[in-house]
Amino acid sequence: MLATVLHGPGDIRCEEVADPRILKPTDAIIRLAATCICGSDLWPYRGLQPTGGPAHMGHEYCGVVVEVGSEVRTIRPGQFVVGSFCLSDNTCPHCRFGFQSSCEQREFMTGAQAPYARVPLADGTLVATAEVPSPDLVPHLLATSDVLGTGWYAADAAQVREGSTVVVVGDGAVGLMGVLAASEMGAGRIIVMSRHETRQKLALEFGATDIVAERGEEGVARIKELTRGVGADSVLECVGTMESFDQALACARPGGTIGYVGVPHGVTFEGRQLFFGQKRMLGGPAPVRRFLPDLMDRVLAGKIKPGKVFDLELPLAEVAEGYRAMDERRAVKVLLTV
Ligand SMILES: [Zn+2]
Repeated sequence: MLATVLHGPGDIRCEEVADPRILKPTDAIIRLAATCICGSDLWPYRGLQPTGGPAHMGHEYCGVVVEVGSEVRTIRPGQFVVGSFCLSDNTCPHCRFGFQSSCEQREFMTGAQAPYARVPLADGTLVATAEVPSPDLVPHLLATSDVLGTGWYAADAAQVREGSTVVVVGDGAVGLMGVLAASEMGAGRIIVMSRHETRQKLALEFGATDIVAERGEEGVARIKELTRGVGADSVLECVGTMESFDQALACARPGGTIGYVGVPHGVTFEGRQLFFGQKRMLGGPAPVRRFLPDLMDRVLAGKIKPGKVFDLELPLAEVAEGYRAMDERRAVKVLLTV
């Protein structure tokens, strides 16, 4: 089959690779309904994260099961499934506490920017729908696999409640999904830090109430102004740089909570500053599996349309253009048809 392989910084190709097959009895093979490019794919694409050789890209997926291993019990061929980018057994203690992204058997999904993919730990990872959904729902279901699940976790970890004042740092796809999540959770005010007009519009569509274009100290001053000098109850950090973490910490009120889901690159903290700041923090790779059944139900019921975050659709053969478009911020998120 033709699939996506990253050979080195900036060198992404759609090329012939071996078809995936069952390697362990707990695996499933799925035929993808669609796939997409993640903001985190840009780290290795930009050479900021080593890959150790050619890498089969893609970890966001949904589609129909075509084959299962001999120990797979609950997932069957013919079912339409969505899975998380973190593969989990969903039975170990961490999974049962709802932290499937720290599963004792955790693996990370790869190779999903392709027509077919192997999903390890199929029973624990995949969630099936009752019937095969109509094609117009596919982008929205695909979004639950990572980008919405991650934005949702950011809001959950930041303890967004009915009436909360929320700040979202980052107007990428995850930040925008954080806005949608906070809105669904009943936040009273959702302030997005964004300087890009198209992303500001999307944020408003997903439920943002205020936009702050300023950054750094000016940005913090604007947030203070908007919150009567107090700061936000909840802050969603959806970037992963030192600047964005500083922004997030400074925007939260004492006792406020920061949910951080941007993979940190070059981020360090100063102990005394944290001590006197009195902010709560929870983050990391999102345990999307915990939220998947609920998020899929909301999509299937037509309550949320997270697939609106895809603003460019390309065939898999043009995956290189998709990476370029996201790298140059011409696209928020690229859907790949397979
Ligand atoms: Zn587990």
